[in-house]
Amino acid sequence: MMHQTIRIEDLFSTLPDQKPFTQGIRRAPKRALNLSESDIKLALSNALRYIPEKWHSLLASEFMDELMERGRIYGYRFRPQGHIKGKPVDEYQGLTLEGKAFQVMMDNNLDFDVALYPYELVTYGETGQVCQNWMQYALIKKYFEIIRSNQTLIIMSGHPLGLFLSSKQSPRVIITNGLMIGQFDHAESFNRASAIGVANYGQMTAGGLMYIGPQGIVHGTYSTLLNAGRMKLGLRHDENLKGKLFVSSGLGGMSGAQGKACQIAGGVALIAEVDPSRIETRLKQGWIDQVYSSPHQAFMTAFDAKQKGLAIAIAYQGNIVDLLEYAISNHHHIDLLSDQTSCHAVYDGGYCPAGLTFEERTQLLKNNPKSFRQKVNETLMRHYHAIQKLTQQGTYFFDYGNSFLKAIYDTGETSICQNGHDDIDGFIYPSYVEDIMGPVLFDYGYGPFRWVCLSGKDHDLDLTDQAAMDMIDQHRRFQDMDNYLWIKHAKSNQLVVGTKARILYQDAYGRLKIALKFNEMVRNKEIGPIMLGRDHHDTGGTDSPFRETSNIKDGSNIMAEMATQVALGNTSRGMSLVALHNGGGVGIGKSINGGYGMVLDGSRKCDTILKSAMLHDVMTGVSRRAWAQNPHAIETVKLYHQSQSHTTITLPEHADPSLLDQVIHHYKGK
Ligand code: NAD
Repeated sequence: MMHQTIRIEDLFSTLPDQKPFTQGIRRAPKRALNLSESDIKLALSNALRYIPEKWHSLLASEFMDELMERGRIYGYRFRPQGHIKGKPVDEYQGLTLEGKAFQVMMDNNLDFDVALYPYELVTYGETGQVCQNWMQYALIKKYFEIIRSNQTLIIMSGHPLGLFLSSKQSPRVIITNGLMIGQFDHAESFNRASAIGVANYGQMTAGGLMYIGPQGIVHGTYSTLLNAGRMKLGLRHDENLKGKLFVSSGLGGMSGAQGKACQIAGGVALIAEVDPSRIETRLKQGWIDQVYSSPHQAFMTAFDAKQKGLAIAIAYQGNIVDLLEYAISNHHHIDLLSDQTSCHAVYDGGYCPAGLTFEERTQLLKNNPKSFRQKVNETLMRHYHAIQKLTQQGTYFFDYGNSFLKAIYDTGETSICQNGHDDIDGFIYPSYVEDIMGPVLFDYGYGPFRWVCLSGKDHDLDLTDQAAMDMIDQHRRFQDMDNYLWIKHAKSNQLVVGTKARILYQDAYGRLKIALKFNEMVRNKEIGPIMLGRDHHDTGGTDSPFRETSNIKDGSNIMAEMATQVALGNTSRGMSLVALHNGGGVGIGKSINGGYGMVLDGSRKCDTILKSAMLHDVMTGVSRRAWAQNPHAIETVKLYHQSQSHTTITLPEHADPSLLDQVIHHYKGK
C-alpha cells in the first residue's frame, strides 16, 4: 500500500485570500488574554507550525493582530468561504464511510444556522469549540478524507496528531479536549494554554462532534420541567404544565430550548435574553412566539396565557435580574424558576451585567475586564437575592447545570453553601440533576440517545422516528410514556435545525434495541447510513459534582473515574468515535465528560459492537449510581442481572445509620 502522508506545504499549497465576514453572523467576544511576551512568541510560533514557512513573515503579523484583537489565533484566512453545512454523506470525499460521516458532523457543528459563533469555531455554550483554529479544521478534514478502515485518528484539543495503525474493530477517531494536569486544572491556566494554542474547550458535543442543534437539549429540558411539575407542583403523571409559569434566562445554544420545551410540556415560558440577535434566531425558528422589552407586558401576556391554559413561549428582551426584580415588586407568582446564562464562563462574556446592553457588555469586556468582573459580581448578588425572595414566596428554583450557584459562591458568598462555608456539600438550591434528572432518569439509565440520518433525507428521519416509536413499551413506566409521546410528536414539533437528527431519551436496552433495528434497516437498504451517539450529559458520560453526579452521595462525586472508564470501555469495544473532555457545561476543572459516535453501515460487525458497547456505556453509569446506594439504580441493576448472563455488577450492602451513630457516640464516650 502507498504510504500516505499529509505535508503542511501540500495541504496549504496556495495561500487562501482573506475574505470578508458575512454581516449578521454573531462573533465571539475578545477572549481573556494575559500573556507574557515569551508566551506571545509561543502563541505565534505554535500557530505557524500549521503554515508553510514561505508565508511566515506575512502570517506572523496577521496572527499577532488576531491574537491582540480577539484574544486567540483563529486563522480566519483558512476558513472555507461561504456557508459551511453538514451535507449528505455521499457528497464528501473519503475512503471510509466513517471518515465521511465525521465530516458531516463536524460541518454541522459549524453551520451558520447551528453554531453560536461560527467564525470562531464555537458551536454552543459561549466557549465550546470544534477545534482551535481553521488550520486544524483543514487538517482534520484531510485526515478524515484519507483515513482507512485499519487506522485511528488522534485529535488532542483540536490538533490532529496523526493517523495510527489500529484495526477494523477500533475507533476511527479518538478525541480529547482540555484535559489538564491537576495542578494546572483551573480557568486561569486553561486561558493561558488556550491563548498559546495548546488547549481547546470542547464543551461536550461541540468538540465531540455530536451536537445536533438545540433539539439535543429540548428533550432533556422537557423531561426536567415536566418532572419538576410532578415533584414540586403536585401534578399527576398524566398531567402536563398547563396553567403553570416557568421563568428563566438565555436563548442561546442550549438555553434556546427552554421556551420550546416548556411549550411542548403544555406550560407558559417567559425567558429573558439580552442579545437581540439570539431572540431573532429563535423567533425565526418558531421556538419563541412573542417578544417584549417591557417586563409589564411580558408578565401580562404570560398570565393571560396561563389563565387560558395556552402553551406559549415569550421572550423578554432584557436582563433576567430586571425581570425578577419586577416580579417581586409586583407580587407576581412564578411556579418554576431557573437560569441558563453561560455561568461556566461567567467572566468571559457568559453572564451579562445588569444596566448594560449586549453591545455595551461586549465593549466593556474588551476594554475593561476588571470593571466587567465587578459588575458581573454585583449582578450575581442581585440575582441571588431575587431568587431568595421568590423561593420564600413558594417558587421552586433549580440550578440548570450552568454553574450559576458556583458562580455566586465564587464571588465569595458562602451563604449559598449547604454547609455555610464551602462547596464540598453542594449548595442550598438543588441542581436539576440532583432533584429531578438523577433520580427520575439517570438512575434508571435513561439518557440523551440521538441519531443523525447521514443521507440528509426527511424520509429516513420519518422511518427512524416510526421504528424507534415501535420499539418503546409505553406502558412499562411513566418515563417510557413521556418518551413515547415525545417521539410521536417530534416531527410535528419541528425540532430539526441543521442535519436530519433526532434525540430520544432511552435506557440501556431501549437504546440497544433501537440501534440494532436501525442497523438492520440500513442493511436492508430501507434507509441510508446512520450516525448514532449521545450527549455527554448522561447517566455515565459525565463526572460533575454540581451537575450530572450531584445525586451521588457516597462522597465519590469528586472523582472522575466513571466518565474515564466509560470512554476507555467504549474505545476498547470499538465505537467509531470516542471523546473525553474537561469542563463541559460547568467549566474547566469542574467536570470530566465523554461521549461516542457510532456509524451504522448495516454490517454484522456493527451489530457485534453495539451489543457490547451500548450496554456497557449505559450500565457503567447505572452501576456506579447503584454502588452509591441510589434506590432506582439498584432496582435497575437487579433487573439487568436477570436478563444478562455475561455481566455481574457489584451491589452494596446497606449500613443502618442508627448503628453508625451508636458506634461514633460510643467511641467519643471512651
Ligand atoms: P449560550 O452562551 O449560547 O447562551 C446563554 C445566553 O444567556 C446568551 O444568549 C446570553 O446572551 C444570555 N445571557 C447572559 N447573561 C444574561 C443575563 N444576565 N440576562 C439575560 N440573558 C443573559 O449558552 P448555552 O449553550 O445556551 O448554555 C447555557 C448554559 O447552560 C451553559 O453554561 C451550559 O453549559 C448550561 N447547560 C445547559 C444544559 C441544558 O440542559 N439546557 C445542560 C447543561 C449545561
